[in-house]
Amino acid sequence: MQTFDLIVIGTGPAGEKAAVKAAYFGHKVAIIEKEAVFGGAEVVTGTLPSKTLKETALYFSGKYEKGLFGIDRDLKHEASIEDFMFRKNFVTASAATEIHDNLVRHGVTIFRGVASFEDPHSLRIQGSEDVIIRGEHIIIATGSYPYHPSNIPFDSKKIHDSDTILQIERFPSSLCIVGAGVIGCEYATIFSTMGTKVYLVNDKTTILPFIDHEVSNALVEQMRAGGVNVLFNTSVESITPPKNENDPVLIELKSKEKLQVDMYLFAAGRSGNTKALQCEKIGLKVGSREQILVDAHYRTNIPHIYAVGDVIGFPALASTSMEQGRVAVAHIFQTQDLQHLPTYFPYGIYTVPEVSMVGITEDEAIEKKVDYLVGKARYADMARGKILGSKGGFLKLVFSKQDFTILGVHIIGHIATELIHYGVILVEEKKNLNDVIQQVFNYPTLHDLYKYAAYDGLSNFFGHKVKP
Ligand SMILES: Cc1cc2nc3c(=O)[nH]c(=O)nc-3n(C[C@H](O)[C@H](O)[C@H](O)COP(=O)(O)OP(=O)(O)OC[C@H]3O[C@@H](n4cnc5c(N)ncnc54)[C@H](O)[C@@H]3O)c2cc1C
Repeated sequence: MQTFDLIVIGTGPAGEKAAVKAAYFGHKVAIIEKEAVFGGAEVVTGTLPSKTLKETALYFSGKYEKGLFGIDRDLKHEASIEDFMFRKNFVTASAATEIHDNLVRHGVTIFRGVASFEDPHSLRIQGSEDVIIRGEHIIIATGSYPYHPSNIPFDSKKIHDSDTILQIERFPSSLCIVGAGVIGCEYATIFSTMGTKVYLVNDKTTILPFIDHEVSNALVEQMRAGGVNVLFNTSVESITPPKNENDPVLIELKSKEKLQVDMYLFAAGRSGNTKALQCEKIGLKVGSREQILVDAHYRTNIPHIYAVGDVIGFPALASTSMEQGRVAVAHIFQTQDLQHLPTYFPYGIYTVPEVSMVGITEDEAIEKKVDYLVGKARYADMARGKILGSKGGFLKLVFSKQDFTILGVHIIGHIATELIHYGVILVEEKKNLNDVIQQVFNYPTLHDLYKYAAYDGLSNFFGHKVKP
């Protein structure tokens, strides 16, 4: 039997980074993957495909350039589904190859097949061969799969989850999306940008409840302006699948409203990929939604077995999953370089327009009774914003009234997911408004948003506002 210092299960972002780091530090590492394509949800069903489709939709629609240059580009009606998927397929294939090559470069031994526990140190791999390998330590990075409520007749043709929507062979003329979380909102804006009539069904009073309320409201406004029909406080009562492929899916909402749509996407919730592992055989503790229970070091109830990434649940992001993998390896091999994830990390939501945040929201500041103020700057008032023709976007700083320390940064607008990283440093390093004002930024850039939001914050504090 082959033996390893570490066996990692899964080649998604959590597994890849864990395996590579351990191998880099000189340990004998194996990784197991059940799918033909490496990279998990980051590459195959989630992060990169959906982000590439967003850029594709923006390119074909010419949405951001409309009216700016005298002549408009509007290619979306000529674009076929093959055109729409072309770049996605290219990006995901090259990312999968890069992950495979990175593992090989680091000397990680690759096994292909489905892993399950034989005993607490041994894994059976069932693929083209049936082998058992032994690991001194094991990291589970098996990710998650879309939650399927029993009353939804998924067929992967007209009624989809967030994995199968990436395999559609034609554009839906209309699409009902259930779930106004990150995935639902992203797909709502991607498809509406491509000209699909989109209904976004949400059982709450706001979308994306964890983001700042002003940003959430602004996103709803911009979604509606982009043609998304956002429905609040309602859910699906029944779904009737079509008898023939050309017929619509019939949806009845709890509000008694009836929708007839070409396709349906259920994008509410994911469960941990733990069934195949046979955790019960070794007494490994699994919690609700099939997620593995871990401590602050990502250690399970069996001390030499760790779990990282989506399989442990929140925050279930590629960005944090990678770091969790690295932190687990640091703990196993005592590399002393990375004890835990930073307190503050950004959230990026790749809607059209993008949203990003770090730190506390205004709502949280109120709830925690923080003595706070805000400062805001609009994209449309920045020189770079004018060049880009930005409408409706803004950056908002939440800061302490006592010493102007920046507690939260919230952005909606063009490249918000890039702009946020300066905000991460401000919040993590407890910088204040004056620290921002003292910086020199390239001009013209959207980074000016930070400076003018800081000035606005000071104006709010001193009660001397020149601009409304
Ligand atoms: C539509 C969508 C959009 C997203 N957008 C973003 C985004 O913009 N930014 C972001 O940070 N995150 C995003 N995410 C989340 C991100 O994709 C996940 O958080 C991330 O992929 C989780 O990484 P992971 O390594 O834990 O699991 P995964 O990426 O799911 O990888 C798990 C791997 O384990 C393998 N596996 C499972 N069971 C076994 C077994 N028994 N034996 C062998 N192999 C097994 C799987 O085949 C898979 O390759 C998005 C997700 C979705 C669905």
